[in-house]
Amino acid sequence: MSADLIFCGGQVATPKGFRRLDVSVRRGRILKVAKSSASERRGAKHLVDAKDCLVLPGAVDPHVHFDLGIGPGMRSADDSRAALAGGVTSVIDYTGPQPGQSPRQAFAERLKQASGWACDFSFHNVLIDWRDEWAKELHELARAGSPSVKLFMIYKDRGWQAHDGMMHEVMTQCRRHDLVVCVHAENDALIDHFTAKTLALSADKRPGASALAISRPPLVEWEAVGRAIALAEDTGARLHLVHLSTARSAELVGQARKKGLLISGETCPHYLSLDQKLLSRPEGHRNACCPPLRTAKERQGLFKALKENWLQAVATDHCNFSSELKDSWGGDFQHIPYGLAGVETSLSITWTLGPEKEKMDPARWVEMHSAGPAKLFGMYPKKGAIVAGADADLIVWDPQHTKTLRAARLETHGDHSAYEGRRVKGQARQVYLRGSLMAEAGRYVGRADAGQLIKRKRS
Ligand SMILES: [Zn+2]
Repeated sequence: MSADLIFCGGQVATPKGFRRLDVSVRRGRILKVAKSSASERRGAKHLVDAKDCLVLPGAVDPHVHFDLGIGPGMRSADDSRAALAGGVTSVIDYTGPQPGQSPRQAFAERLKQASGWACDFSFHNVLIDWRDEWAKELHELARAGSPSVKLFMIYKDRGWQAHDGMMHEVMTQCRRHDLVVCVHAENDALIDHFTAKTLALSADKRPGASALAISRPPLVEWEAVGRAIALAEDTGARLHLVHLSTARSAELVGQARKKGLLISGETCPHYLSLDQKLLSRPEGHRNACCPPLRTAKERQGLFKALKENWLQAVATDHCNFSSELKDSWGGDFQHIPYGLAGVETSLSITWTLGPEKEKMDPARWVEMHSAGPAKLFGMYPKKGAIVAGADADLIVWDPQHTKTLRAARLETHGDHSAYEGRRVKGQARQVYLRGSLMAEAGRYVGRADAGQLIKRKRS
């Protein structure tokens, strides 16, 4: 059987570590991972020279918000092309239910919005309220390939909050029907308390964007993480903690895992690489995200947590609002559209910090971007692995390529970047999705609408 493509001469990230092998691809899938013969290479339609490069599984980003509406005229960019330019071939986004809307309806609506996306995708089912009859729908959604839900412990004012009783009930049902429960863990009452104190200290009630970090100190997160873990322990649910920003939270996840609980966690490139001082700069409000950026101490703790496998995944929480939308905050830190762009720069940022700077094992770096999230969310080994039979989602990674990040040069539809001017090493030289070339040297070159819905398995 002749191959459509053979990746030759690179160091291939296999599940057992890096090996100098070739990867043969046929009809969008990996045919074999082994040295190819001269006649096999002659018979292949294309050869991809990966000399001096690494061949990686396409990255899996389990937390993005593409084309997300948060109010009239407020939408984040659809950055599915930017994802591919950066080496992310699969994403998990979220449904966006209206109050009272059933999970099945919310899923169908979100699926329509994703019809033009360039990368492969799936959705976590967001629950902002709960009715007993929805347990059956969740069961059906899980069987159809969407076995996860998302709960917010905050946003009471927006009507999205899952209070402790609702969390307990949803976890009980998800345990019964094999769904992972993703949780945004912050304590709403503490945010209100610290926000009131922050405002009281400011004469004109406009303390600036740096107040965001003061109104949400680390306690706001780690108290809620502890509570979510307690609820998961009691119900036996599989809990995944999203966008962890503090060392203490990551430690709690590590301790829970040690006890044998089914708990996992992710952090984001911005919590690993950006300081809360960015909020005090002119236009600092454009760097507002939730939870907020932190200090060097937290970043070191998060890095350690990734190395030790207390946290299993790097996710970007990519949510890219234009500077025009960000600038509509009117000087009130509570009214900034929160979110940062990250999906396109994620691999270069973490490669530069991890294997380059911190001497992180490159195999661990690969794992936290691909096999880690793919295993947590039922996509492995179809996604996140270079093995025969898997989807041929592949990156030719040039570890030596150095560049300066500039928003204007990125593929994103956004117009600003928290990483503006940062030097990074490592670039996705070529990115393939199911055997098709989608991006080259940071530019999207694929056909439109290439993305497909990923059917995930229950754990
Ligand atoms: Zn998010």
